[in-house]
Amino acid sequence: FKCHELTGFGGAIKNLGMGCASRKGKLVQHSTVAPVVAEKYCIGCGICPRACAHDAILITGGKAIIDPQKCTGCSRCITVCPVKAINIQWNEAADLVMRKMAEYALGALSGKSGKAIYINFITQVSPACDCYGHSDAPIVNDIGICVSTDPVAIDQACADLVNGARGNEGSALQSGFEPGGDKFRGVWPEITWEVQLEHGEKIGLGSRKYELVRV
Ligand code: SF4
Ligand code: SF4
Repeated sequence: FKCHELTGFGGAIKNLGMGCASRKGKLVQHSTVAPVVAEKYCIGCGICPRACAHDAILITGGKAIIDPQKCTGCSRCITVCPVKAINIQWNEAADLVMRKMAEYALGALSGKSGKAIYINFITQVSPACDCYGHSDAPIVNDIGICVSTDPVAIDQACADLVNGARGNEGSALQSGFEPGGDKFRGVWPEITWEVQLEHGEKIGLGSRKYELVRV
């Protein structure tokens, strides 16, 4: 269970929706996300072209340019840029990714009702996607392991547990340090992370209501 630059956090819904999707399905889910380079901030350092696994970035005239035909919207370039020159045109892109993700999760479970359980490790809660080749200081200390048969309930419970913890000074967290503060917006303020939970519940993926039993 981690923070995530597109979805606020990544837990059971994300692992189901993205993890169980075909390559084409992953691309479809990311397809509405289009990062752009703010030319005036780009210093032409060359880091983002090296980080892009899809050769979608070229340095031209000392500035990075993203080829939208090659870009899959993975957002890795956003996290590696040292001057934060790359951003997503947020409008509704992130919300749409989360809705698609919940729907793909529902599809992945089709025909498997009652045959799946979810285990979320709330440990090493890094500020960005853990598919990258680097990590960062956890935004909260390790909390524990959650188990549930409901992917929405477990993600809601984990989000509440992380938000209920004290944030770590010196991590990527910028606000919400106090217990109860919104840790996910504290790292990714533009992301309405609740969308994946709301939509998951709406389409019948699970329930946001849960009972936490500590063992
Ligand atoms: S979002 Fe991913 S694929 Fe697109 S340019 Fe950035 S690193 Fe490359
Ligand atoms: S990492 Fe940032 S500053 Fe460096 S080339 Fe890419 S956009 Fe420009």
